[in-house]
Formats: sequence, C-alpha cells, structure tokens
Amino acid sequence: MVLSLKRKIISVIIMSLILVTPFFTSGVSFAATNTDNTIVVGVPTDRCPMIYAEKSEDSVNTIVGIGPDLLRIACKNIGYNVEFKAIDEPSLKAALDNTSYDLVMPFGSAIESASGQSSIVSDNLILTPFTVVISEGDTLTDFNSSKMGMVKSLAGVSDTVKTLYPNMEVILYESMSDCVEALRNDEVDALLQNSYVWSYVLQKPSYTDLHVQPTTMFSMDFRVGTLDTPEGQVLIDKLNQGISMITDTQRQAVILDYTSRKLYKYDTHDFLYANRFIFICFAALIILIALHFIAKQQLLQKAQKAQIKQMLDYDSLTGALTMAGFREKAKELLLENPTTPYLISYNNIKNFKFINDKMGMNSADELLCFWVEKSLEYFSDKEAIARIDADHFAVLCCMPDDNGVEAMETIVFEPVKKYYINQGNDYEVQISSGLYVLTPEDYKNINVDKMLDCARLAEKKAHLSVTGGYEVYNLDQWEAGRLLSDICGHFSTAKKQNEIQVWYQPQVNYRTGKIIGAEALCRWNHEKLGWLSPGLFIPMLEQSGLIYDLDCLVWETVCQNIHRWNEQGFKRSISVNLSRFDIEKNKNIAEHFNNLIQKYGLEPSQLRIEITETAYAGDNKLLLETTAQLQDLGFEVEMDDFGSGYSSLNMLTEIPVNGIKLDYIFLKNKKNPERTKIVIEYILKMLRSLKCNFITEGVETKEQADFLVERGCERMQGFYFYKPMPIEEFEALDFNNINNRLQ
Ligand code: C2E
Ligand code: MG
Ligand code: MG
Repeated sequence: MVLSLKRKIISVIIMSLILVTPFFTSGVSFAATNTDNTIVVGVPTDRCPMIYAEKSEDSVNTIVGIGPDLLRIACKNIGYNVEFKAIDEPSLKAALDNTSYDLVMPFGSAIESASGQSSIVSDNLILTPFTVVISEGDTLTDFNSSKMGMVKSLAGVSDTVKTLYPNMEVILYESMSDCVEALRNDEVDALLQNSYVWSYVLQKPSYTDLHVQPTTMFSMDFRVGTLDTPEGQVLIDKLNQGISMITDTQRQAVILDYTSRKLYKYDTHDFLYANRFIFICFAALIILIALHFIAKQQLLQKAQKAQIKQMLDYDSLTGALTMAGFREKAKELLLENPTTPYLISYNNIKNFKFINDKMGMNSADELLCFWVEKSLEYFSDKEAIARIDADHFAVLCCMPDDNGVEAMETIVFEPVKKYYINQGNDYEVQISSGLYVLTPEDYKNINVDKMLDCARLAEKKAHLSVTGGYEVYNLDQWEAGRLLSDICGHFSTAKKQNEIQVWYQPQVNYRTGKIIGAEALCRWNHEKLGWLSPGLFIPMLEQSGLIYDLDCLVWETVCQNIHRWNEQGFKRSISVNLSRFDIEKNKNIAEHFNNLIQKYGLEPSQLRIEITETAYAGDNKLLLETTAQLQDLGFEVEMDDFGSGYSSLNMLTEIPVNGIKLDYIFLKNKKNPERTKIVIEYILKMLRSLKCNFITEGVETKEQADFLVERGCERMQGFYFYKPMPIEEFEALDFNNINNRLQ
C-alpha cells in the first residue's frame, strides 16, 4: 500500500515534470536564457571554419562556422533561438563554470570544469576528420613513430592521439605559424589538425609548400556541453532532440558552404607574399630609377668638373693650354712616349706692347689667336701648345729633323711674322724663341717648370738679338737630338727608299782555307748623312723601338738570298744578329724564324742566330726560353761578343747556346799582350773541353790568325780575311780558296 502510494507520488511528479517542461523550456528556468527562448552558447572564435567571428556589413561581429550553423539548425528544430558569445576564459573548462552561458562548445566528450564540477555533453553535431599536413614532396609512412606538431588549443585532442598512437611524439606550438615553421625546420614530420581547419589554413599564400596527406587518422566528435545540473540535463535532452532532426543533407550543405568559401583573409604579410613578384619588379624599378638618377647626378658633376678643368687648363682667348694645363699635358705625353726625342720651346713676341698700342688690343688678341691657330695646324696630338702668359707661348714638340724645322718655319712662324704685312700694314712681327732639348734624365724625373726655365733663359738670349730668332739652351743635346731625329725620324722613308742594305762578312776556316759562311750586317746609306755605321744607328733604333722593324727587314732579305743561292746550288749558312729588344717586342720570335724558313724553303741550320753576350747578363728568363725554343726548331744559337762585356765563365755552363763567338777586343789588348794570349789560350782550351763550337771575330793580322789556329781555333772572321761587303761582291767570292785574298 505504502509502496503503491510511493509509486503514485513518483508518477505524479514525473507527470507534473512532463507538463511543466514546455513551460520550463520556454525560457523561464535557464540561467542565461532571455525571455524569448534564446540559448546563450559560449564559444572560442579562433577555429575557422568550425567556429569563428565574422564582421557583417554593419560591422557587427557575428559568430559563424560549421558548428554554430549546425547548432542553429538543431535549436530551430526545437523552437529555440541561439545566441553565441565569444568566451573570455582561457579554456573551455573554465568557460563551463561561467553561468552566463547556457552551453559551451565544442567538446569531444564530457570533461570536468575548471572548478572540478562534472559536465554533460550533447549528441554529436558532426564528426570532424583529422588529417596531417606535410611538406611538399614528403610522404609520411609510419604515423606511430612520427613527430607530430599541433596547436596548443588542441591539447585535448592530443590525449586522444596518444591513445591511438602511443609511440607518436606530439609537440604543441603556440600558433599555426609556429607549427608551420617547425615543419619547415624539420623539427616535426607532420602537422595534425581537423581537415575543415586545413581547408581554411592552407588558403594562406605562403603555405603553398604544404600539402595534405590524403589519409584520415581519426575523427573527433563535435558536441555541446554544460555543467551536470538538472537544468543542464533538461537542456541537453531537448537539444539532442533537435540534433537528431538534423539531416545528412543539411550537414553536407553546411560543410560544403564553409569549406568552399574563401574564408582566409589576407593580412599584410600575405598580401606582400602573394604579390612578391610585383613588389620585386617594383623595387627593381625604383632601384633602377635611383641608380639612373645617381648616374645622372654623377655625370652632371663630372661634366661640371670637366668644365672647371677646361677653364683652368685652357686659355679662354686662344684655346691653347694654360700653364697648369701644359704642365699636366707635358707630363702625360712624356710618360706615354718615353723614347720620342722632345724639345720645349719658349716663344715670345717682341715689342708686343707696341703692337697693342699701335694696332689696338683687339688686333693684338687676334694675332695671339692666329699664332695658336697656326700652331695647332702644324703640331700633332703628341705635342702640346700653351699660352703661359700674355704673349708668351710654350710648346712641347718632337725634335724636328731638317724638313721639320723648315715646315715649322713655313707653317707657323712665317705666317705669324707676316700677319700685319698680309693685312697691308708695314710691320713684321718678331719672335724670339728659346729651345731646350730634353735629356734622358728629363724623362725619368719630369719637371716641366725646370725645362721651361731653361728654354726661357735661352729665349732671353735670343731676345737680345735684333731680329729675334732662336737660341738653344743645351747645344750638345740639340745636336744629339737632331741626329736622333734624322735617324729615327727618317727610318721609315729609308726603308722605302732602299737606303738600308744587307752586307755580308765572310767567315773562314783558316786551316782548310775555305769560306764556311758569313755574318749579315746592315748598312745604311742615309739620304742626308751618307753611309752610317751600325754602331751609331743600332742603339738609336733600339732606344726608339724601331730595331725590330730593321731586323725583320734584314732577316727577310737574308732568307731571300739564301733561297736564291740554294736554287743556284750553293748551300750557305748565314749568321744574323738578334737584339734583346726584338725578343721583348715579339715574345714568339722563334715562331717568326720558323715561318721565315718555311716561307723560303730553308733548312734551320742555314740560319745561325747571334745574340750578344750582354743580353744574357742578369736574369733574363724570356731570353733563355727563346734560346731553347730556337734550338728546338733546329736553329743554332751563338753567343756574340763573348769577352767584350760582362762575360762570366758561369755563362758557359748556364746558358745553353750552341756556339761562342769570341770578340776581337781580346786580340787588341796592347797593354798586356802576353797575359792576353794566356787568357785566350785557356779560354780556347776550356771551350774545347766543353765541346763548345767557337769562332773568333775581329781577326786583323796574320799573327793573330796563326796564334789562334795553333791553339785550335780554326774558324775566324775579321778584316784580315774579308771586310763586310755588298752582296754582289760576296757572291763573286771563291768559297774554296781564301788564299788569293790573303796574298
Ligand atoms: P757584331 O754582331 O759583333 O758584328 C761584328 C762587327 O765587327 C761588325 O761591325 C764588323 O764590321 C766588325 N768587324 C768584323 N771584323 C772586324 C775586324 O777585323 N776589326 C774591326 N775593328 N771590326 C771588325 P758593324 O758591322 O759595324 O756592326 C756593329 C754591331 O752592330 C754588330 O756587332 C751588331 O751587334 C750590330 N749590328 C750590325 N748589323 C745588325 C743588324 O742587322 N741587326 C742588329 N740587331 N744588330 C746589328
Ligand atoms: Mg754579330
Ligand atoms: Mg760580334
């Protein structure tokens, strides 16, 4: 009876509960709900596209996402409104304790709140698949032994992961960008996140190097929770009804809606990254413009400097150089042309004050301009003209030969002198000039002012003479300079006019009485100076760099002659001289000789090459190399003038020549003839022991020849036998008999 009464009371309570429920759920008893049946749900907003805040058109933050949309459908199904609030709490656990929320989401399962109260959760709203993201080109084969990166907000999920994959090492990072950095730095093998989140995150432009590995590792529930209270129970029960009414189509539609949207909003960094090529191009363009601007500025500055320099270096009246300009230009020219013989002239117009007064300033200025104009007409780029003050002109010019002096007189001085006469005035301009011829020392220590002072001193002397004219400061140098210019300046014309000839001095075997060869020696029949000795012009040509041209001419002529003799059936060997300057000019001189013998069909043994002993003195690597190359090609190389200069016995062992040519100087030592004979005797002995070929040149007497032959030197060259002779005479010789000649 008591039991049935109890049952009745319980059933009445349940009935009344059932009756009260609609009223209860219509908004009266939920702590946070308002009067129009609205459920307040606390959510995190950083889980796009699951739950996130979106700014609507009227700039109000609305919480949207797959979760909120599904919950809205569920609530609508049971006649409730839902209002989402962004939680301020650090965790969902803490949010559970906040009574201003009716519900909190998302939860995978029921957990304890931060204050230790138990909670209850709704049925699953949606299953969220978890997938991994790896670096482009990688594949993760073994999940269990991998290192997995996750964001800290998924700390709850990491427990599930550890249960499923006990050997997996999970590393939690503060943010997604930290996760990505860790993956890129190989700190982790992959990143784990719910696949709907990936669909959002991977929209970031700078994450194009990441890709999803198409494997679902596991799925997590997405539920709504609240504290385990009677009200909570009622609400969850009711909500479950609504959840059960969500159709699969509705779920698919919501998922599709959020995963197909371009939810990711570019931040500044993304914008910069996405448009990096445009920015790079733009930056490059800016740099180019800046560089262009700088270059233009520099050009402008350069032009300004050049303009200032032009003003400083050039005389504004005549256009000639100023003193400053002359100093610089003269120095430049002397450095560029160290072998050109130069002179500096200092020129002065006599009575210029009178010209100024009588003809007027303008006319006097015109005279100065006329002088410069005429000078520029005559002098070349290798020369410099300056107006150093008022009517004083300085000229740095190449040492003129006779023709040059004449030309300078007619082109420059005569017209200037006749300037007023040609204008119908009876006045001849007088010019006094002082000349200073540059010495070799002047090229080494260039001091333009000092040279000009010397020229000025000479001009003063000329000035005192009635008619002006010119005076030379250093006459010796002037003579030497004139000779140099007569020789070097005339060289190319001399070649064309066949002034240069090749003569031959026969070489004999005194014992057999036969001619064994000859040395080719050049001779110059100068148009003005007559026959010149090589001793005079060879050093000058060497100094001015013309010797190579001369030697090429001699070698070519010799080869032509040998070729002709070969064709006539006379096989002759000729010695030619090779200057150290030739080797410096043509580093491959051996090849040059080879080409010559090829061209004329000669045997290399027909050309003996003499290199003077002094060339070998000191360290001359190039010369030694050339000697070896010539020998490799089959030429015989002889050391010329042995004994005349710096001979050292060491040379005989160190320099690999084929033969030695003893100099006649040895034979001419009259002071100590007996001692000289002993020295020659021992040198010859030594050369024989060294198995070195040798010949003595400069043999002038029978006594010398006899002395040499007695000491084993049979080959000789010298005036006692023959002097150098023109080719016709050489060809007419009887090669088999020198005796006729000696009688
Ligand atoms: P070198 O090569 O030692 O030539 C021998 C010089 O000695 C020649 O003088 C010759 O005429 C002279 N000589 C020969 N036998 C006697 C003698 O018994 N007594 C005296 N006092 N002298 C004798 P040359 O022709 O005046 O040549 C002088 C130097 O000029 C040559 O000395 C050579 O170094 C150089 N030379 C001559 N022609 C050429 C050439 O075509 N090219 C080059 N680079 N140098 C040349
Ligand atoms: Mg010689
Ligand atoms: Mg010699």
